[in-house]
Formats: sequence, C-alpha cells, structure tokens
Amino acid sequence: MTQSLDAILSKATREKSLNRDDLIRLLSITDDNERESLFQTAYQVKIKNVGPVVYFRGLIEISNICQKDCYYCGIRKSNRAVPRFRLSLDEIVAAARWAHANRYGSLVLQGGELQDKAHTAFITEALHRLHAATNNELAVTLSLGEQSREVLGEWRQAGAHRYLLRLETSREDFYQRFHPDDHHWESRLECLNDLRSEDYQVGTGVMIGLPGQTTADLADDLLFIRQLDVDMIGMGPFIPHGDPPLAHHLKNIDKTAQLDGGLKMLACARLLLPNANMSATTALQALSDTGRELGLQAGGNIVMPNVTDPKHRQAYQLYDGKPSLDENSDQSRLGLEKRIESIGETIGYGLWGNSPRYTTRIPT
Ligand code: SAH
Repeated sequence: MTQSLDAILSKATREKSLNRDDLIRLLSITDDNERESLFQTAYQVKIKNVGPVVYFRGLIEISNICQKDCYYCGIRKSNRAVPRFRLSLDEIVAAARWAHANRYGSLVLQGGELQDKAHTAFITEALHRLHAATNNELAVTLSLGEQSREVLGEWRQAGAHRYLLRLETSREDFYQRFHPDDHHWESRLECLNDLRSEDYQVGTGVMIGLPGQTTADLADDLLFIRQLDVDMIGMGPFIPHGDPPLAHHLKNIDKTAQLDGGLKMLACARLLLPNANMSATTALQALSDTGRELGLQAGGNIVMPNVTDPKHRQAYQLYDGKPSLDENSDQSRLGLEKRIESIGETIGYGLWGNSPRYTTRIPT
C-alpha cells in the first residue's frame, strides 16, 4: 500500500529519519500539491536548522586540465575540442581579492584533476598567496578531485578548510558504467575518509538523472550520504555535454524532469541531514532561470557565484547550457542579491558559514 505523504513527512521532521521506501515514495512524487508539501517541509527544516541565510562561495575555476576521462564531463581528458587553460597565481589572487572586497565569506577553488607535484605545489602556493592577500579572512573549499592523504594534509596546512568530492553515485557498478576501468569508486570513497581524517569539512554528492538511474538508486544514494555523515552536500542534475560519448542523450533530455529530480533530492537530503550545508547548484540554474532560487526553497542554503574572469568561463563547461558565461562577477552578484531578496532570505555577507554539522561534531 502506498504510504500517506503526511505520515512520511511528519516522521521525517520528528525522527529525522526516512527509510528506503519512504525516500522512493518522496522521489516519485508527481502531484503538484504533494511536491509543494515536500518542499515546504524541507524548507521549514532548513529554517529551523540553518536559518534563512544564504552563504555565497565565490567559485574560481582554476583550470580545465584533467587527467580523468569521466564520460559525462565536458572537460574530460579526451575531449579535444576544448582549449585548455590554467589561471596564473595572480589571476587566482585577483579573484580572491574581488570576493573579499565584496564580502563573500568564502571561496571554492575548483578544477580538473591532476596529481603531479608541480600542480599540487601550485595549489599550496595559491592557498598561501590568497590568504595573505585577504588577511586570512576567507574560508576556502577545494574541489580538485582525488588526491593522496599526504597532499590533502599539505593543503589543509596551507589553509584549505573544506573539500568537495562527489561520489557521483553510491553504486559501484553504476559508477563503472560512466567511467573508464582505471577510475575507481573505492578510491574516491577512501579519499572521502582521508578528508575526514585530515579534519576537513567534507562534502560529497551525486549526479541526479543519469541514464538508467532509478528512484531506488537515488534513495540508496541519499542513505549512503547519510551514513557517510558528511558536512556538506553538493549534488545536481546530470546535463549532457554536446561531445561524445554521452552526447546522444542531449536530444532526449527533459529539462523539467531533471530539474524536478534535482529539487526533490535536495529536499530529501535536507530532511535526512538537517544541519548540513547544501548548495543550490549551478546545474539547477542551467535548467531554469530560477533554478537556484527553487533550490533554496527546496532546502539548499549555499550558492556558488562564479568569480572567475569571464574570458575563461567558456572553456570550463562541464555540461551544455552553463549559465552566466558572459556575465562579470559584479553582474552575477547583483542579479543573485535581487533573486535572494525576492524569496525573503538574506545573504550572510562577511561570514564563513561553516556547516553546523561540522562545528557541532568537532569540539572547539
Ligand atoms: N574534477 C573535480 C571537480 C570538477 S567536476 C572532481 O572530480 O571532483 C565537479 C562535478 O561536476 C563533478 O563531480 C560532477 O558531479 C559534475 N559534473 C560533471 N559533468 C557533469 C554533467 N554533464 N552534468 C552535471 N554535472 C556534471
């Protein structure tokens, strides 16, 4: 028998727990009123646990050079159509200064995955330089793929506080379908454990709406993330890229369904991990102009406005339809401010906005 939605939602708020069947039921919602109830409940849980405050993370896309070949990703190694770039230290520092001057409390340095010493030392140097240029007042998140525990420790020492590494899916066999044989789900998981050991605020997530993915898979993803007990969640809808091998999915993509799936996952994640930081990802905005606001209303509390110089944005496209390609950082800040005000929330300017899930776990 199908369970009543009200019973599931009140259990979620009371016990902060949902089982696999509950999650499948929530992720399968098609009725507008039910969808609204799910989002409103998640929103209330968010307000109670992290408040009506949105934190900005200034996103610096530092390089699209990547040694990995993930089939879904626009900057994967064998996509020869992309001109490769790497920001200089000065460019990274300039973006950090801009974020600081505009009272963004933190930065995310994201890029392709490289593990050679020249790259890892470059990141260490960038961390030192950007902290020196911003009076040590910014929290820094890295999103630079899998790294050894030694390198993660070095970057932590150099002033990285948080790390985002998506598992992409919690099903190892499913992961293998979207990656070459020498990419291993297990090592990604191990890296998440190393990040915890090195005292990072740890973030993970999955892609939502991959070809062949079921609602049961997504329910399992959520339960897996809950079990990992991460501090931050970054997950968003899969959006095909116009280059092989997954390009043929472009013509079949149902933007409304991808957006809906992304929002429902966010809402369920908020019910399961009430005090984690969760981003309303750019992939949501790629599917709808108001995607990020919808994400905030479904339980997200983090937005990552791009602060990279627009001249490099074209070359950093993980999927087609990336928004704000030609907007400079001032324009994207003003646009976002208006949108956030329009939903009655405030922006946590000048604040780090640490994940309460992390700060309550680690005694200070
Ligand atoms: N190389 C780093 C970070 C950059 S990719 C890493 O491996 O972690 C950041 C995230 O973008 C990936 O984890 C993936 O979940 C997402 N992504 C890549 N291609 C995508 C696509 N086609 N649609 C939606 N998200 C995508």
